[in-house]
Parts: sequence; C-alpha cells; structure tokens
Amino acid sequence: MNRITVLCSGGLDCVVATQMALQEYPDNELTLLHFDYGQVTAEKEHVLVSRLANYWNCSNRFYKLPNELFQGGPEERRHALPPYWVPARNLTLLSCAASWCETNDQEVLVIGTNVEEATAFPDNSKMFTKHFASTLRYALAPATPLYLYTPLAHERKTSIIQRGQELKAPLHLTWSCYTNDNWPCHVCPSCLCRENAFFACGLIDPLVVGEYRRYYGVCLGSGDVELADSWLKDRRKKKGFERPCGAN
Ligand SMILES: [Zn+2]
Repeated sequence: MNRITVLCSGGLDCVVATQMALQEYPDNELTLLHFDYGQVTAEKEHVLVSRLANYWNCSNRFYKLPNELFQGGPEERRHALPPYWVPARNLTLLSCAASWCETNDQEVLVIGTNVEEATAFPDNSKMFTKHFASTLRYALAPATPLYLYTPLAHERKTSIIQRGQELKAPLHLTWSCYTNDNWPCHVCPSCLCRENAFFACGLIDPLVVGEYRRYYGVCLGSGDVELADSWLKDRRKKKGFERPCGAN
C-alpha cells in the first residue's frame, strides 16, 4: 500500500498526474491537498477538488494560507513577469505539502509541473523540482521516505491531454481558466493553451461540450472538432480579444 498525496488545484495537469500516479501505484491510499493562497479561483478549485475526491473515492484536505504573502513586489519589477505570477508559489505549496506528508506518514507527493507551464513560470521547471527533491533530504526527518513524483516533467499540454484521454482521467472535472466564472472565458492565456491543445489532439474539451449544450441544447459529437473550434473562435471575437497561446 502506497500513501499518495497530490498537490491538487483541479487543473488539467494535476488531474492527469494523479491518474498516472494511480496507475503507477495501483495499491494506494490517495489524498488530495489543496491550498487557498488568495488566487481568484480558490473557491472554484475547492469545489472541483471535492468533486475529484468523490470521483476517486479518496480523502481531501483544504488549507488557507495568509494571502498577503503572495501579493508580489514593487510595480516596476512586475512588468518583467508573466501575468498571474505568484511569488514563490510552488516553493511554498510544496514545502507545506512536504510538512503535511511527513506529519501524515505519506510516501509519494505528486505535482503536475510540466514543460508548457515552465516556459512562463520557472517554479514549474524540471530543474526546480529536481532541486526541491534534493532539498527534501535535508528538510524532512531522516527516516521519511517521501518521493516527489513529477510524471509530466517532460510533457507539453497536447501530450498531457492525450495521456489523460488514454487513462480515462476525469478531464470533465478540471478547470484551467484564470477566472472564477461558471464557464471558461476562452480568452485568458490558460484557456487558449488548453483549447489549442485539445484542437491539436483532434479532441473536444468536455467543458466546451457542456457549454455548447447549454447554448444549443445539443451535444457535440467526437467528430465535431472543427465545429467546436470555429464556435470557440466566434466566442473569442464576440469578446473582442484574441491572441495566440501565451505559453509559447
Ligand atoms: Zn480563461
């Protein structure tokens, strides 16, 4: 029996990483760990993580961190940073998760960091997680056997979606948008990355299927990829904003 904890936000990456961990460690006891650090989508993530815990029939834990720690530095330095930058986010969240893991005798800590996110956010890079894993040897009690599992470290969004599809990960329970609305905004960099990647895979995002059904009362079939894409382009035009994927 492997005791597995996932740093989970309800995003595509951590959900696929979780499904890969379940395959890698079939005899397991799974816990989803979620932190509220003042992100706009904290409430939505909380709901999604609860739904995911129901889906996987596992435990979940929620912790609120002091929001003022993550506000960022002086304005003149922020122009060089990507939008939605959060200072030392993954360092802090992984450190808190590692403390939780030692406290609760966990053996595997999962995070869905990947190449796509690492281009804009260096605390998603392979180098960052490699150094963090090394640091754990000095930060945790000597007998703590915690392994940092990063199955998506070399993956891009398209291969993450393909893996999720192959493993039947609950992609319909994920959220990537930077907004807290009922439906994705379709114009933020995260929405564009996700939607472009689904299109490149020849698949339709289950969230788009749901939204389309809400508008027209009909389901998109698996072959309606072009129709879904042109509908999304139309939605973006109506919002008066369109730009290429922010992470590339
Ligand atoms: Zn969005």
